[in-house]
Amino acid sequence: MPDATTGEVRSTGLTTRTMRVRNRRMLLDLLREHGVLSQADIARRTGLSRTTVSTLVSELRQMGLIVDAAAPTARAGSQGRPPTLIGLDDSAGVAVGIDLDPGQVRVAVANLAHSVLSECVRELDPGDEPATALDAAAGVVTEALGRAGVERARVIGAAMCLPVPIDRRRGTVGSASALASWRGLPVVEGMRDRLDFPVELDDDASLAALAETTWGAARGCANVIYVKYSTAIRCGLVLDGRLFRGAHGIAGEVGHTVVNESGLVCWCGSRGCLETVAGAWAIGDMLRRSHGEHMTLERVVRLAADGDVGCQRALADISRQIGIAVANLCNVLDPERIVIGGTLARGGELVLEPIRDVVRRATRLLADEPAEVVAGTLGDRAEVQGCLALVLRDTGTRFSLRAGAEPG
Ligand SMILES: [Zn+2]
Repeated sequence: MPDATTGEVRSTGLTTRTMRVRNRRMLLDLLREHGVLSQADIARRTGLSRTTVSTLVSELRQMGLIVDAAAPTARAGSQGRPPTLIGLDDSAGVAVGIDLDPGQVRVAVANLAHSVLSECVRELDPGDEPATALDAAAGVVTEALGRAGVERARVIGAAMCLPVPIDRRRGTVGSASALASWRGLPVVEGMRDRLDFPVELDDDASLAALAETTWGAARGCANVIYVKYSTAIRCGLVLDGRLFRGAHGIAGEVGHTVVNESGLVCWCGSRGCLETVAGAWAIGDMLRRSHGEHMTLERVVRLAADGDVGCQRALADISRQIGIAVANLCNVLDPERIVIGGTLARGGELVLEPIRDVVRRATRLLADEPAEVVAGTLGDRAEVQGCLALVLRDTGTRFSLRAGAEPG
C-alpha cells in the first residue's frame, strides 16, 4: 500500500527513508533534465501523488536545493493565475561542455536551470598534437568560467566530445578513429588533470543527438537517428529514450556501412563504404572536372545555395547515397525521426528531399508512418549543448549526494 504522505510502497522492503531519498533524487533528476516544472507536471511525470510531491518540494526547498523559478512567457489568451514553477537552485553549481574538434574548441558554461552563462570559441591548428589541443581546451574552459564569473569549485562536472568513436569504459579515443594520433590516449584522465573536476568523454554525433532530443528538432522523441556530416558521416542513435553507443562505441558509424562491395577501398580497409561515394573526398572528385579545385562540403553547400547547378546536383547525389544507408538503419531501428545535422544540414531542402524520397521508398514495412526527415535546429552548437545535457542529465552530482541529507 502506498503511504498517504510519501507515496512509498513499503511492501518492496525499502525503508521509508530510502524511498524518500529515491523520490527526492527522481525529482532533482527531472528538474536537471527539464529546467523548470510545476508541481502538477512533476506529479504527472513521476506518478507520485500531488501531496507527496508537495512534501518533497518543501523538504528540498528547506535544504536549499530548489527555488521558485520565473515562469516562461505566459501563453496568449491563457486564463487564470499561472502555476508556480520550481527549478534547481542555479547558484548551487554549473556544468561545463567542451566540443573539441581538431580545428576548433567551443566551451559553454551553464547553470542547473539550463541557462548558458558564457560560451567561448577558439580556432585551433588541426595539425596540433593531442596534448597541445587539450591544453588549449583547458585554457578556453578557464576563460569561459572567468567570463561567467564562476569559481572552479562550483563546477559539478564537464563533458567533452570529439568527432570520433569513443571507448567510454577506458575514456579513450576508439581504435576505428580517423584521428590516428589520438588513438588509445587517456583523454579523460588528461582533461581531469588539467581541469581538476570530473570529465566525461563521448563522441560528437551522440551528444548532438542528445541535444536535439532534449532541446531541438527531436524534442520528445524516444527513437531518433541523428546524422552528422561535417568532415565525416556519422550518426548518433537515441533508442527508447537513451543514447545507444554499442559495445565498442562504434554504433552509428554509418559512413563505413557498405553501399557497393566492389567499390573503392576506404581508409578503414573496407570497400565501397558510404564515405567512398558521399564523403569529403568523393565530393571533391565529383566536382574536380567541372569546378577545377578541391571543393569542401562547406563550399559546395554555399555555392549550391547561391544557385550553382553542379553543386546542387552533387549535393542531391550524395544525399541520396546517405538516404540509402539511413533507410537501411530505419528498417533495423524503426525511428520516429531522422535529424540531419552538421554542415550538410545547411543544404536545406536540397539535402532533405532526396533523403526523404529514398527513406520513403526503402522502408515499405514502415510505409504507413515513415520516419520524418528534418534538419537539426541547434546548428553548430548542438555538440556543446549535448555535452551540457549529458552533465545535467546523467552525472551523479553533488545534488544527488545532498538529496540523502536531512532538511534543515
Ligand atoms: Zn570505410
